[in-house]
Amino acid sequence: MKSTRLGPHLIQLTQWPALFPINCYLVVDEDGLTLVDSSIMSPAAAVATVVKEAGKELRRVTLTHAHGDHVGGVSGVKKLFPNVEVSISERDARLLGGDKTLLPSEPQTAVKGSFVKIDWKPDRLLKPGDRVGSLEVVASPGHTPGHDAFLDVRDRALIAGDAFQTRGGIAVSGDLRLLFPFVAIATWNKPAALSSAVSLRALQPSLLAVGHGEAIGSPGPAMDRAIESARKAFG
Ligand SMILES: [Zn+2]
Repeated sequence: MKSTRLGPHLIQLTQWPALFPINCYLVVDEDGLTLVDSSIMSPAAAVATVVKEAGKELRRVTLTHAHGDHVGGVSGVKKLFPNVEVSISERDARLLGGDKTLLPSEPQTAVKGSFVKIDWKPDRLLKPGDRVGSLEVVASPGHTPGHDAFLDVRDRALIAGDAFQTRGGIAVSGDLRLLFPFVAIATWNKPAALSSAVSLRALQPSLLAVGHGEAIGSPGPAMDRAIESARKAFG
């Protein structure tokens, strides 16, 4: 995996950077490290390298959403680091178990994207406003019903999962980019994704880090562009 340091507290790990980039992130906290997402195959070896360099333990794994290319690596990480706490939103935990039914309160569009069989259960179910180390949980439904983003309260770096993509051009989840159409194809509900994108923009992040593509510093103008494009595309 390719490893990119994005700041004093944040390291990006990328699987298949040239062809089909899938990112996960290590956040460095006082008490240890948090892994955000886990790629499709185990990132445990790359995580172990950072753990050694940082001289801190891996404490937590938290997941932006339940798609296979974000949760598939958890099993391997748990084998190497059996004491980690794994967390995901209460809503997307249902998807982890293969239950794609919608709640009566939700827009009735089909859940999309690919899911993998897992041999673990989350230890903690997240609600908006919860904290995972220095990360604040920000609900950002649309890509999936229970999608979360994570805002580092120390420096306002935002790990946005698939609420945005930057590979193939920055876009709100659901707004198709032909050079990397997979995020759009896997999106549950476009209006919800757009309204989440607006909420994430309003957080005034210092950095935008996403599931697919490179991170963007001072991302306000780029996020505005993406939101404008999605408004037009979604009608
Ligand atoms: Zn996804």
